[in-house]
Amino acid sequence: MRLRNKPWAQKLVVEHPEAILNEPNPEEKINWEERFDDFSKPLAIEIGSGKGQFITTLAKEHPEMNFIGVELQTTAAGMILRTKLEEKIDNLQLMCADAANIAMYLPENSVDTVYLNFSDPWPKTRHEKRRLTYKSFLDKYKRILKPDGHLEFKTDNQGLFEYSLVSLNNYGMKFDYVSLDLHNANDEVFERNVETEYEHKFAAKGNPIYCLHAHFVQ
Ligand code: SAH
Repeated sequence: MRLRNKPWAQKLVVEHPEAILNEPNPEEKINWEERFDDFSKPLAIEIGSGKGQFITTLAKEHPEMNFIGVELQTTAAGMILRTKLEEKIDNLQLMCADAANIAMYLPENSVDTVYLNFSDPWPKTRHEKRRLTYKSFLDKYKRILKPDGHLEFKTDNQGLFEYSLVSLNNYGMKFDYVSLDLHNANDEVFERNVETEYEHKFAAKGNPIYCLHAHFVQ
């Protein structure tokens, strides 16, 4: 998803350093205790939040938790920020940043859930390293996740899903849930499913939505 540059979004991001970290220097430690009312609450992060429908909905549903949305594009991050400010979603912090640096931004063993939703598929083999389920990214998720934390991934892209199953399995991860058609799964996971923008669009076209939950073995 490439969004057209929206000057208001850029401006909003710059005006709200208390709510969004804009391309933070990976060398500088982020004071998360200061950014959340109570940083001891369970923490979930979404990588590649897009316009933020998923993370803002989830944060409103779960005031007992903290959430961080990480998004590379300033315009998209600015759109999430607007929702956060308008709807006063205090348990959500945002980062306009590259997830490649995620292990430098967050303390080790601090995250309960990492969400990847409709990540860019990077179908060419020479771009494998950019896929958010490539082993170098798994290294980083493992570092920031608590020992009992887990990863949740949804996509409509069959190639990326198959690749991710193999990549996670080769890494030694264990699967807690796999569905090749979440929207017709008629199960508890679908009952509490929160849709993303992409999910809404692709499911409406009749594409099956693939979903997996997995955890690392220590
Ligand atoms: N999760 C949303 C958007 C999916 S599109 C949804 O399901 O609707 C994928 C998003 O991931 C894009 O907005 C893209 O800018 C972002 N993204 C891709 N690579 C990223 C990275 N390395 N770090 C942070 N965000 C990334």
